[in-house]
Amino acid sequence: MTPTAQITCSRCGRQATPMAAPPLTGTRGQTVQQHVCPECWQAWVDQSTLLINHYGIQVADPAQRQQLYAVMAEFLHLPSL
Ligand SMILES: [Zn+2]
Repeated sequence: MTPTAQITCSRCGRQATPMAAPPLTGTRGQTVQQHVCPECWQAWVDQSTLLINHYGIQVADPAQRQQLYAVMAEFLHLPSL
């Protein structure tokens, strides 16, 4: 049992145990894992589902996916991803 390092969430400012695994691939996922608590990530998952449904965002389209990441960075108070 190794104690897990706590993170300070960039969105809600709370100390939290980070997610067990990066929620996205690559460095973007690592950034999110190190800066966002699981609750705030879940809030973004819910929010992004609404956005995708409401605006008909095609996440398979790189340009539209990039736009969604920009909104995500703003939502989670992260530097650009
Ligand atoms: Zn948080």
